[in-house]
Amino acid sequence: MIIEVARLHHPVTALGPGTRLGIWTQGCTLACPGCLSRDTWESGPEYAVDVRTVLDWCDARPPAEIDGVSVSGGEPSRQPLALAELCRGLAERRERHGWDLLCWTGLEEEEFAARCPDAYALLDGLVTGPYVAARAGGGRWRGSANQRLVPLTGLGRERYDQWAEDGPAGGPEGGHPAELQFQVEADRIFLIGVPRPGDPARIQRALAAQGIPMKGVTWRP
Ligand code: SF4
Repeated sequence: MIIEVARLHHPVTALGPGTRLGIWTQGCTLACPGCLSRDTWESGPEYAVDVRTVLDWCDARPPAEIDGVSVSGGEPSRQPLALAELCRGLAERRERHGWDLLCWTGLEEEEFAARCPDAYALLDGLVTGPYVAARAGGGRWRGSANQRLVPLTGLGRERYDQWAEDGPAGGPEGGHPAELQFQVEADRIFLIGVPRPGDPARIQRALAAQGIPMKGVTWRP
């Protein structure tokens, strides 16, 4: 089974609880204005890998150092059969290693469940809804206030419940700390996590002040 993948990363510490494997699928047609990940919109054979290869990559990481798996995008629901195959493989590993499975989608929960019933049945939690720039600044691991963190299993409730109802990072109620990671590959910098409003421009200015100009950024066409 082929799946289009944007990138894989371990350790991920800014997208989901604990230390995680990160799997970003490639391809999204939702085109949320203000999306920070426009590089994941395009679909094409150059992004295609076998699901087995992704699972082999997971198996090559030290399982004792992994708490769970974060599947994001792009839009994972664009590839329902491949996503189901991936989730079946990850669920087997959840049995062995105690990993939780958390997935991000720009769809609402009911839409995701209808489009991807097999994956939905295997996930411990779902972060739902499109990014809405006018409501930027969501709860932990969410970009805007309309997005929901929905635990789907007992394990999901155990691991995500405490974050499901929180406010924006550093908000008036105290909020959760802002968390971001940077992955540097050759001349590209990947940002992992959900930045606060204004963070991308602040990062760009800070890098420029260090003599590192960003020639192209994924949050602008
Ligand atoms: S925010 Fe997510 S769902 Fe929206 S366009 Fe970007 S990748 Fe797609």
